[in-house]
Amino acid sequence: MINLVDIKNILHDPSQGLTEELAQDAGRLTRQYFGRTITLYAPLYLSNFCSSYCTYCGFHSHNRIKRFKLTAAQMHQEMSFLAKQGIENVLLLTGESCQATPLGYLKEATAIAKTYFANIGMEVQPMEEAEYRGLFLCGVDGITVYQETYDRDRYKEVHIAGKKADYDYRLGTPERAAKGGVRHISMGILLGLADAAQDLHALYQHLRWMERNYPGVEYSVSFPRLRSIKGTDFAPCDVDDVTFVRIICLTRIQFPRVGINLSTRENPALRDHALELGITRISAGSNTSVGGYTVTAAEKQDPQFDVKDHRSVQDIIAILKKRNFDPVFTDWRRIENEVPP
Ligand code: SF4
Repeated sequence: MINLVDIKNILHDPSQGLTEELAQDAGRLTRQYFGRTITLYAPLYLSNFCSSYCTYCGFHSHNRIKRFKLTAAQMHQEMSFLAKQGIENVLLLTGESCQATPLGYLKEATAIAKTYFANIGMEVQPMEEAEYRGLFLCGVDGITVYQETYDRDRYKEVHIAGKKADYDYRLGTPERAAKGGVRHISMGILLGLADAAQDLHALYQHLRWMERNYPGVEYSVSFPRLRSIKGTDFAPCDVDDVTFVRIICLTRIQFPRVGINLSTRENPALRDHALELGITRISAGSNTSVGGYTVTAAEKQDPQFDVKDHRSVQDIIAILKKRNFDPVFTDWRRIENEVPP
């Protein structure tokens, strides 16, 4: 596997020709393994209660925002709205609070989501293997959990309190989810927290280890860039667009079959450009506030991060088709999840 020195050289090389070369290799591999298909998904925030204090996040426990979580009726309302846009892959998100959003609440949300969507992903507090098994049997297909940074010292600086402050527990989360039967795991780093090359190298090692030990799981990765947000004083991410593009390309070259996600944190021009490089899954028509689609008035929303791409699902579909991509709403028919024999 590529070593740290080579990653640093690739990310820091000033030659524009290198970016072109990487883009061509990455684009070719993406077409070879994924064709010209892009899967669409939408995030749906269930709750912004959080008992952790991560200094870069608008939901952190010390931030004075209005806290609430969706009732069952509000979940129906939000999910029905997304389903009507054509969305079949949903990512259900919460802050990390075992008190506000315990397993029972997440199972209830899953049971409701099953009536609207073919595929259900979840980005919530890390759990035990048995809890993941429970969620999987209930209908959760995928778990998203980012280490954020693999730099232990930096991790400690920015994760001040709460369960998320436990580096090792978070590091072991993808493995516990895999043991629990979850079939899709999304991993990632938050660019802007620590040295990008070092974090990328550590993520590659973690992902390789997961692939070797849990080959039955489908993996994807994400590289969100840190954005400033109300109630935090973080400087914006120092990873520029060229480095960001190289990270996507290098990841595709190192992991030809792994999905690469891109959220609406990035602006439309960059998102459109990245489609040709290695991205296989994008969010569309996103709102990152609890109840943001139908429940909470726009001026009262406290998003987890600011959305840069405000195009609707229909806009994104039109753009994909214009660029000769097939938008994929689902490649999955909902079945009852069972623990393999
Ligand atoms: S990053 Fe997650 S755990 Fe940390 S404050 Fe935000 S919602 Fe809570």
